[in-house]
Amino acid sequence: MEAVFADIENAKLVEVKKAEIIFLNTCGFLKAARDEVFENLKKLKGKKVIVMGCLAGEFTKNEIKKYPQIHAIVSSANYKDIQKIFDKVHEGEKVFAVKKEPKTFGKFLGKSLLSPTPYAYIKIAEGCWNKCSYCMIPYLKGAYRSRAMEEIIQEAKSLIALGIKEIILVAQDCGFYGSDLYGKKSLAELLKKLSEINGDFWIRTLYIYPEMIDEELLKIIKSSDKICKYLDIPLQHGDANILKEMRRPSNPEKTLERIKNIRKSIPGISFRTSFIVGFPGETKSAHKNLMKFIKEINFNNVGVFEYSREPHTAAFSMKNQLSDSLKKERKEEAMLSQQKISLENNKKFEGKTLEVLIEKYDPIKKIYIGRSQYQTPDIDGQILVKSKKPLKVNEFAKIKITKADVYDLFGTI
Ligand code: SF4
Repeated sequence: MEAVFADIENAKLVEVKKAEIIFLNTCGFLKAARDEVFENLKKLKGKKVIVMGCLAGEFTKNEIKKYPQIHAIVSSANYKDIQKIFDKVHEGEKVFAVKKEPKTFGKFLGKSLLSPTPYAYIKIAEGCWNKCSYCMIPYLKGAYRSRAMEEIIQEAKSLIALGIKEIILVAQDCGFYGSDLYGKKSLAELLKKLSEINGDFWIRTLYIYPEMIDEELLKIIKSSDKICKYLDIPLQHGDANILKEMRRPSNPEKTLERIKNIRKSIPGISFRTSFIVGFPGETKSAHKNLMKFIKEINFNNVGVFEYSREPHTAAFSMKNQLSDSLKKERKEEAMLSQQKISLENNKKFEGKTLEVLIEKYDPIKKIYIGRSQYQTPDIDGQILVKSKKPLKVNEFAKIKITKADVYDLFGTI
């Protein structure tokens, strides 16, 4: 039986139409994500659907009854039984065996690639050590559990052997990595060991709390050409009171100071963050503080999200919930302000030569599309390259940047 990776959003894909059994990966952390799961289920009427991911364990009996296309529900604790579950579904059985989230990671069982991208994600920890008042992840995923360093290194080696050119480490907070398992923060050690693997590849780390960035970590990021000079630091707000209500340990003044020091240690480092607007009780002046903070911190890329009222969170029952229209207005204001900042920062690349990972060729527009170490796939912009001589896809190339807009850069060889 053939396996294909496809985006169900694009349900016209021949692969989705042809498939008898579909694995539907789900996310339950925001209402919008949960709605999308049910929309996708509707599109998959008549298929045998195996529901996976963090929403899997949350399906009610009524929902399972409502969508007869669901033939199996598989939580991450069941992943090692996936072949058996698939075989049963193939034979016409229905399997609803949701186990609780495991306390530890399973053994690395080898890796094959389903998507044709030159980058791959490695999860280095599950769950979260914090309990932010707006966030459902601790409820869905439990406490922070680091994955053994040898397992991560083994997985990275096998990905690099398969031709992967960018390893992206992910966790709710990569900076906390190792604290539970080894009794000390171990991200710097992990990055060092990964960067010692032979080969031509980048390592990117997504999501680090500002408080977790110490000298040791900065030293290793600075010392290796393989480690992207890029930090994604979720800051969530720029007003001290709102941050307190959000149960975030950060303080805007201290964060500004930290970012200043990081910039001093690693000149040219690129930053991304995300902010939430419209948190319960966010006054005009709190929003003004956020707007001021966005300007002061001067990040390359920023995502702004409207607060979403989620069950099983402390903020759900907070007073002074804001209207959707006010949240939308504040989001637009913040995004507009950031666009100017992003453009200014992108313009600084004009005239520079960057190492670019070429990811695709568009034969109609006759351009190559790639990214530099300062851009995360699917989140940040891209680099659109015109070249008279053919470039190799999935390889690095030196590209001179000729133009910049708010999101993308343009270059030539
Ligand atoms: S938002 Fe807070 S609780 Fe949610 S995953 Fe991030 S750190 Fe953990």
